[in-house]
Formats: sequence, C-alpha cells, structure tokens
Amino acid sequence: MSALPAPPVDTIILGAGPAGASAAFHLARHGRHVVLFEREERGRGKACGGGMAASVQRWFPFDLSPAVDQVIREVRFTWALEDPVRAVLPGEAPFWIVRRSVLDAFLADRAGEAGADLRFGTEVVAVERQGDLWNVVDQHGQALASRSLLIANGSSSPLPGRLGLGPSRPRFATTLSLEVECPIANPDLARFDFGLVPQGFCWVFPRQRGYSIGVGTFLGAEDLDADAVLRRLLPSLGLSPEAGQRRPTRLRIWDGHHPLDGPGVLVAGDAASLCDPFLAEGLRPALMSGCQAGLALEAWLGGDVQALKRYTATIRRDWGESMMWGKRIAQVFYRFPRVGYQLGIKRPTAPQRIAQILSGEMGYGDIAQRVIRRLLFQRG
Ligand SMILES: Cc1cc2nc3c(=O)[nH]c(=O)nc-3n(C[C@H](O)[C@H](O)[C@H](O)COP(=O)(O)OP(=O)(O)OC[C@H]3O[C@@H](n4cnc5c(N)ncnc54)[C@H](O)[C@@H]3O)c2cc1C
Repeated sequence: MSALPAPPVDTIILGAGPAGASAAFHLARHGRHVVLFEREERGRGKACGGGMAASVQRWFPFDLSPAVDQVIREVRFTWALEDPVRAVLPGEAPFWIVRRSVLDAFLADRAGEAGADLRFGTEVVAVERQGDLWNVVDQHGQALASRSLLIANGSSSPLPGRLGLGPSRPRFATTLSLEVECPIANPDLARFDFGLVPQGFCWVFPRQRGYSIGVGTFLGAEDLDADAVLRRLLPSLGLSPEAGQRRPTRLRIWDGHHPLDGPGVLVAGDAASLCDPFLAEGLRPALMSGCQAGLALEAWLGGDVQALKRYTATIRRDWGESMMWGKRIAQVFYRFPRVGYQLGIKRPTAPQRIAQILSGEMGYGDIAQRVIRRLLFQRG
C-alpha cells in the first residue's frame, strides 16, 4: 500500500540563504507551517565578501551580532593600489563583516527555533503549479505540496525566468573570491581598489585571523583575468601571489523593475536579481526582501489578496529605486573608471557618500544625478 501524500503546508521555501532563512523565520514566528529546503548541508561556506550594513539589524527581533566577524570603521579606496582616499564610516559600528557559513546557519537556526521545518541536504528538483497548490519534488523523489512558494535559491535559479518573475534575461557580474588565513594589520579597515579590474573592482575585507578577498567585474567582461589581478593585489598585502583557494562565481545583479510576485509565489534575494550592480551588495537586499516576503506571504495566507502585489511594490520603492540609479552610476563609472575615480571618489565628500551607501544611510538616488552629471561633463 503506498503512503498517503503529506497534507499541503502553508509555505515551501527554496534555499536557506539569507533571503530564504529570513522569510522562514518571519513566517514561522506567526505560526505558519513552513518547510525550508536547502541543497547544501548546514554551515557550508559560500563565495561572498561578507560585507554588510549593520542597519539590517532593524528587520530582526533577535541580535545578529553573534554572526558578526569584524566591525568596520574605516574604508580605503585606491586606484591600482595607489592614490588612496580614506573615509571614516558614520555612526556606531555601521558596517559588519560576516562569515557566510556562520550567518546562514545562524539565521536558519532562528527560523528552526521559531518552528520552521529545516531540510538541509535536500535539493528541490521539480516545481509545478497544480490547481491552487505548489508541488515540489526533492532529489529523493519525495513530493510536498504547499499553498504558497518562495523562490530564494540564489543567482543560478532557473525558476524566476520560467515563472515570468524578475528579468527575462538576467544580467550577471563575474566574480572570483578567496579567503586567506594570515595576521591582519587593520581589523577595522575595508579596502576597495578600482584600478586593477576592468569594469569592476577588487576588495579586501578583514576577518578573524585573515582576509576575505575578491574581484568582480560588472559590465559583462566575461574574460576577466582575476588571477592577474590577484598577482598584483596579494603581494601588496604581504601575501604570496598564489595564496588562497579561488572560487569563481556568477552573481545575478539588478537590471530594472520587474514583477516579483505571481499566483501564490514570490521571489527574493539573488533569485530576484536584487544585488547592487555597482558595489555587489547583495546581503542587505536578500535579508530585506526575505523579511518582506515572509510578512507578505503571512498576510496573503491570512486572506489579504493584494499582499503579494504589494511586495513587488515595496521592494521597488525600498530597493529598486536606489538600484536604478546604482545601475546608471555603474554604467558610467565602469566605462570611464579613471575619470570616475578622480571625479567621483577623490572628491572630498565622495568617500563619505559611499560610506553612507554601504552603511545603508543613503541610497544612490540621493547622489546619483549630481555624480552622473559630473562624470559625463567632468564638472568639478
Ligand atoms: C564573490 C562574491 C562576493 C560577494 N560579496 C558580498 C559582500 O561583501 N556583501 C554583500 O552584501 N553581498 C555580497 N555578495 C552577494 C551575496 O553573497 C548574495 O547577494 C547573497 O548571498 C544573496 O542571498 P540569497 O539568500 O538570495 O542567495 P544565496 O545566499 O545564494 O542562497 C541561496 C541558497 O539556495 C540553495 N539552493 C539553490 N538551489 C537549490 C535547490 N534547487 N534546492 C534547495 N536549495 C537550493 C543554495 O545552496 C543556497 O544556499 C557577494 C557575492 C559573490 C559571488
């Protein structure tokens, strides 16, 4: 006799990254029956610099500091390792460095404590709409149905495209990252260099007992020679040019306003193409959209039929409007990066502005029109 299928749950979430785990927490704490599928085992690391505005704390009722590795108080910008500019970050502990193996597990644990059903090591291989329900099948052939679905399974997810959510042809940044264990000189200093990478930048973030280092290019330069960049960057930190294990990754970046909701379904985080196309900031929008998606699904499950549409509008207002300007800045800056560095970053007020963007105090829209005009017409 075959087993009866399990009754439908309230929400199935694909992916226990920051977006999926945040949503799971918010739904579970409202008493919803949530199942969170994650194909990796708990505590697996990820290619990520781990830089995150401390302002994300406002979306959580629990303290995030156990997941924080370092607190950044100062940012240093250079052009090809020279011509430095430094900015002291505004406010108290505004920018954090997290280790992804720790942050992701920490958030999933909070969701689990709130009552979410966590399924690590379980990959969803099929998703289908059947009547009013979503039906998913995992790699073991186990099926589960739900009233609602959250797609939060990251940059390589094919699902948003198939369901008409997000951009139909996503745009990607090309990245390479590594972690190096070594003594660190300034534990509260984050560095960005704009001159070594065509159409992009490299970063050096301090960690406990080492650095998180990476290279990213943003305007479609697929032939990025990241190893050549690292051969110049690493010795400047006193490291061997071959140091660290390198992880190449493609990162889906913001590329216009698009619907993020469908019948009983939302998309959040990288799967929704929310990552900042200028500075690759993806953790803040992943956490924000995950929390907003959790709240929207909770309202929708409770009978508010407009809640999912409102989610798309909220993400557009609270993130997309700023990213629209971020994309324009990226297109101008990375086409003329030397001019951009001189006229954008080296202005007396600019590092402070970027620091305010990184710390979440300001959006690109606040500074964009002035910056673009200056870059295009080289006005002082
Ligand atoms: C090199 C690099 C450096 C970065 N540095 C920074 C930085 O310093 N600061 C910053 O803010 N952002 C940074 N980002 C961006 C940031 O890492 C992402 O934006 C963030 O991880 C998005 O979170 P997410 O939850 O949407 O997706 P993810 O973190 O990718 O989580 C998706 C999860 O879904 C799981 N999954 C995928 N498919 C399935 C499936 N079929 N079934 C079950 N589970 C599945 C995956 O295993 C994964 O755990 C960086 C990105 C890269 C590539």
